[in-house]
Amino acid sequence: SLLLTLLIFWFLAFGVAYFLSRSSMKPILESWNRQKQFSANAAHELRTPLTVIQNQMEYLLTKPKSSVMEQAEPISTTLEEVRHLQTLTNRLLTLARSDADIIQINRQEMSLQTWFEQTIKPYVEIARSQSKSMETSIRAAGKGHFDPDLIRQLIIILLDNAIKYTPKGGTIIFRVAKVRDNRLKIEVRDTGSGIPDADKKHVFERFYRSDKSRNAKTGGNGLGLAIAKWIVDEHKGTVSVADNHPKGTVFTVFMPLK
Ligand code: ADP
Repeated sequence: SLLLTLLIFWFLAFGVAYFLSRSSMKPILESWNRQKQFSANAAHELRTPLTVIQNQMEYLLTKPKSSVMEQAEPISTTLEEVRHLQTLTNRLLTLARSDADIIQINRQEMSLQTWFEQTIKPYVEIARSQSKSMETSIRAAGKGHFDPDLIRQLIIILLDNAIKYTPKGGTIIFRVAKVRDNRLKIEVRDTGSGIPDADKKHVFERFYRSDKSRNAKTGGNGLGLAIAKWIVDEHKGTVSVADNHPKGTVFTVFMPLK
């Protein structure tokens, strides 16, 4: 019976050790798989613009005698893809650095009203140049503490999307207001395509694009909102998405000012 006790004890000890190793390994394995998936997706996203650039360049080489003016189309297509690659690599770098925890958050004291007015100004022009109108309402007296580069990046991501997914003639509304508990509310409304309910909970995931925008070839990469979410998290805030009525989408950010 001593042997039996030892055997039972051994089984129990083995079981506990196995359980512990499985449960403590799980997050590590998951994070390892996420990183593998991230690299695979990144490589996949880089391939399409590179192929387009290669094709355009090969085509240009077959026309050595033609002028730049005559070849404006392949040249501008190439330039567009290069810009796309720039945005993509910048975003990949931001996410890789955020994973590695090597981005220093540089909070500074900002005068809210002037800072938001200055930051938003170019976007009113950009929207107009694409035959969309933009209304702004900034009511934020006093100071706030945040990283101006990151919050600018957040605003750019939300406004870029609002403009990109809104057809000509549509309206984008950008609002900032100080609200209860010394928090800032930033709101971006558009009258665009809207986001189906089934997609709403996924849009902040890396590389996620709804089928609608995938098919529309709007030239996105599904990284913008993942970065937006990371920036908001770093500032201890929240970001959410809802329908705008009667049409379009509204993104809302709440952020403490201290
Ligand atoms: P992308 O580069 O594809 O725009 P994002 O991460 O910024 O990547 O957005 C993820 C997806 O969320 C988009 O592909 C699109 O399907 C949807 N989306 C984001 N913003 C809007 C918006 N303002 N209106 C409609 N759909 C949007």
